[in-house]
Amino acid sequence: MTTVAWIGLGNMGSRMATHLISAGHTVRGYDVSPQATSAAQEAGLQVAGSIAEAVDGADVVVTMVPKGDHARAVYLGSDGEQGVFDHAAPGAVLIDSSTIDVATAQELHDEAARRGLAFVDAPVSGGISGAAAGTLTFMVGGLPENVDQAVPYLEPMAGNVIPTGGPTTGQAAKICNNLMLGINIAAMSEGAVLADRLGLDRKLFWDIARVSSGDSWALRTWYPMPGIVEGAASNSDFAATFSTALMHKDLGLALAAAEQTGTPLDFGALMAERLQQITDAGYGDKDCTAVVKIVDGTLTAQSPDAQNGTAP
Ligand code: NAD
Repeated sequence: MTTVAWIGLGNMGSRMATHLISAGHTVRGYDVSPQATSAAQEAGLQVAGSIAEAVDGADVVVTMVPKGDHARAVYLGSDGEQGVFDHAAPGAVLIDSSTIDVATAQELHDEAARRGLAFVDAPVSGGISGAAAGTLTFMVGGLPENVDQAVPYLEPMAGNVIPTGGPTTGQAAKICNNLMLGINIAAMSEGAVLADRLGLDRKLFWDIARVSSGDSWALRTWYPMPGIVEGAASNSDFAATFSTALMHKDLGLALAAAEQTGTPLDFGALMAERLQQITDAGYGDKDCTAVVKIVDGTLTAQSPDAQNGTAP
């Protein structure tokens, strides 16, 4: 039986890991957050008390953490604690599915190679609905022999597993994809608010756009008006399925890459500004589709106490 260590049991990881259990693997999860840990336990996942406990003796390690800094801490260790690289068994397959910057991904590939460990960058697209349904798209970068080892463990969670080429190319593909997603969200939000103000029935307009040239994955999955798309954050006061902070991070990765390559990303830059506005108002942990509040004029800043988490 294959044992999989799963590091990062948040919105995505907690849902993705269940498919590996259904595929017959033993999954040992670990998260630094007590809330994420107890939610995962309640959902039936076996949890470990440390990276060491999760990773020791595991055949596969999957990481699903927010940013490059977290991935670096998890793999290389931090605060005197050893990381995944120190505990990975020889022959284990290491898969980072977080969306992180190319430079950090390269650093992790280099360190894995130095230690003789198989590592791939394998970020995903499909949101929490895709994670729950096991229909994510994986973009897998790495040496061909490492990609071949990783693919069978990705398939139970995937609708598509697409090798993207050498180390870090998965991250490159993901960053460009999310640049497009961010701009789609901006377009969808403007269209949705304007349709309202022109007196169109919300559902009727959504039905039209869904089969017209305004269609997009964002429209079908994350429509920013409540009561139209099941599972959209707009139905639950924008509780995050994909937080503003994470979308802002992804646009930042695209803008950094744009600077390196001399590529003008005017629309991406504008969306990044809008997400910053939401963050400045105290809603960085809300869903990124809350950008609609800027279009409809309902974004109001939280009090500083609420932002510090001390308001009732
Ligand atoms: P999330 O914040 O809900 O979950 C991340 C988890 O990682 C948290 O529970 C956090 O406590 C944990 N974590 C952080 N540092 C850790 C450490 N050192 N050790 C153990 N656990 C640690 O984020 P998410 O929405 O699940 O996204 C995870 C990654 O997937 C991000 O890179 C994101 O950009 C990407 N992604 C998210 C979505 C989405 O729709 N939510 C879709 C595709 C890709």
